[in-house]
Amino acid sequence: MTNTTRIRFIASLAFGLLVGAAAWNCARAEKPKSRVLLVGVDAGEWDVLGPLLNEGKIPNFARMRDQGSAGKLRSLEPLTKSPIIWASIATGKVPQKHGILDFFMKQLGRENARANAANPGARTAKAAEGEAPATSNLWRARPIWDILGGLGKTVGVVGWWTTWPALPVNGALVTDYIQYDTGSWPSKNSRRTYPDSLDATVERLRVKPENVSWAELFQFVTPIDTTHVTPRQEQLIHDLRWIYAADRTFCRVALELYRNKRPDFFTVYFRGVDEISHTYWDIDLPGGYAPPLTDAELAWLKRLIPSYYIFTDRMLGEFLKEAGKDTDVIVCSDHGFQGGGRGVMAHKLDGMIFMMGPHVEKGGSISGATVLDVTPTILAMFGLPTARDMDGRPIPGGLEASLVKRMEQETRLPTYETARAPGKSEEPLRSPVDQELRERLRSLGYIQ
Ligand SMILES: [Zn+2]
Repeated sequence: MTNTTRIRFIASLAFGLLVGAAAWNCARAEKPKSRVLLVGVDAGEWDVLGPLLNEGKIPNFARMRDQGSAGKLRSLEPLTKSPIIWASIATGKVPQKHGILDFFMKQLGRENARANAANPGARTAKAAEGEAPATSNLWRARPIWDILGGLGKTVGVVGWWTTWPALPVNGALVTDYIQYDTGSWPSKNSRRTYPDSLDATVERLRVKPENVSWAELFQFVTPIDTTHVTPRQEQLIHDLRWIYAADRTFCRVALELYRNKRPDFFTVYFRGVDEISHTYWDIDLPGGYAPPLTDAELAWLKRLIPSYYIFTDRMLGEFLKEAGKDTDVIVCSDHGFQGGGRGVMAHKLDGMIFMMGPHVEKGGSISGATVLDVTPTILAMFGLPTARDMDGRPIPGGLEASLVKRMEQETRLPTYETARAPGKSEEPLRSPVDQELRERLRSLGYIQ
């Protein structure tokens, strides 16, 4: 052997060992088969969760904390809007890399959101102006369900921000647009779901705000005599009605999909806690509600927010029951909530994360984790490395220490991205529900 061939021989031997070790690692990581369930709870806040945990009122969150790990999850700094953060959660990347930078391309003029919520028919000329909401064609990084699907894992995705029009996945995807009034929007080619055929299932399971019964609403407000409901009472629970209907819809659709398909990766996102918090957190403050609430009205709505967490806990419980012991479960929020302002001003930098499952520390405590760490953590649960172009890392204190250590040593993968299709649109696409989406964001104070 000459020196050169000897070096080549040694190099190829080393390469062979490297590949062999990786394959061995992979084989070991995939036995037994990994499954992951990710439940998104927008604006989930420890100040509400903590007391409810102590009172024993949210047993499913309690079970995740006791049998798994829990802690704070830091949001993007400075505080920003939910679709931007959820895209970071799904990609492990900062907004500059994933490309979802706002609800809309530009914001609209100021007007009275409360009056609008109370009288949704009164649309101003301004509401028709402006750019369209951000749409799925604007993502510049692959979300976790696309990465996993590309690697042959089956996936299910329900309710996520910025997923309309539904792009093909290795499984099923239900966009967030199904919560809006789609009555006059024919299902054919609407791309509200992937595959299109799923739209019929969604229509069958969809809960409409006007069909929410008083019995259901009494989970959140003290029961009243429903034969003498006043317009004012209807006004006070107007937002609760559509917020609850949307979460119920996503829950029903997601549960049916999860039961029937059992995908390797499944995620469902609930927006209700955030919306309930924006609507009802500050109602007792001067100017918090117009006209101001009487003491009796305040008492009527007093338990609404904690009750909504209890309802969310019950939804979580339904998914935990389906998931079983072989599934890693992550429940997280994009930010916390503290009130005292409109839109993102009411958010808090620290949100929450709960983890439970075969790859999770039991009784672990999570600290120092950020929203950018969720995707690297899910990849690790599948035995897959964090790519070097991601901005997060597998969560220590949540994931088993040996898995975190193994993943930290695995730094060879530059990216999961593939070449972008040339000429891909950079403009948001219009949909028939843009106006309704806009009205709701305005009523929550996110836009003016
Ligand atoms: Zn949010």
